[in-house]
Amino acid sequence: MSASIEITNVTKRYGALTVLDDISLSIAAGEFVVFLGPSGCGKSTLLRMIAGLEDVTNGTISVAGQRVDTLPPGKRGVAMVFQSYALYPHMTVAQNMSFGLENIGLPKTEIERRVSQAAATLEIAHLLERKPAKLSGGQRQRVAIGRAIVKEPKAFLFDEPLSNLDAALRGRTRLELAQLHGRLGSTMIFVTHDQVEAMTLADRIVIMHNKKIEQIGTPMEIYRRPASRFVAGFVGSPA
Ligand code: ADP
Ligand code: MG
Repeated sequence: MSASIEITNVTKRYGALTVLDDISLSIAAGEFVVFLGPSGCGKSTLLRMIAGLEDVTNGTISVAGQRVDTLPPGKRGVAMVFQSYALYPHMTVAQNMSFGLENIGLPKTEIERRVSQAAATLEIAHLLERKPAKLSGGQRQRVAIGRAIVKEPKAFLFDEPLSNLDAALRGRTRLELAQLHGRLGSTMIFVTHDQVEAMTLADRIVIMHNKKIEQIGTPMEIYRRPASRFVAGFVGSPA
């Protein structure tokens, strides 16, 4: 299950502050796209708009041909994973994973099926009855991904999901995300300011800078032919 994503002439302002200025981007179904850019360039804002969590000032965003702003939250077909994991501290892992599904009224047996399947995939089945406080950072991170998987979304939106992990765990989890993408075939958008993550994960990298998309290309294209000095400096290629 995967969805194409269409971003058309999108501008985002917060009051007088323009964060994104007339950007357009087409993402194919099943593609793994990384938004790469320095802190404050609008990556999270763009991701939240794709998830329908934030208003678009001008322009349109569609997922699988449907404008996200016309759909209720449960019907947008996207699931977001946050940097902070955003787990509910008073709920067990199983409850954290079930919660969103109960909200959309799925039958209990279906919820249980999805939770146990996702828990097996992520190797967290033994943690289902624990509370988040009793989990390591890496385990919390898996639960956050599990909570997205059970929604069976057509697109996953990851907002710097690895940045709170230590280097070794970050590398391992990066590999697991790539495998997850191979297995599920869903569209994935992954936001980061880390060049190595972008280079190793992306089918295509979208470089964001100064309210615009500065360059779109495969990791190799961007490394070999950076479109600007900014890109060259940012990805560390010979300018
Ligand atoms: P990134 O994720 O690339 O670090 P953000 O999307 O978080 O960047 O932020 C982009 C810009 O928008 C920043 O200047 C930030 O201060 C501003 N911004 C983000 N959210 C809000 C908000 N809710 N209200 C006002 N300004 C915001
Ligand atoms: Mg951000």
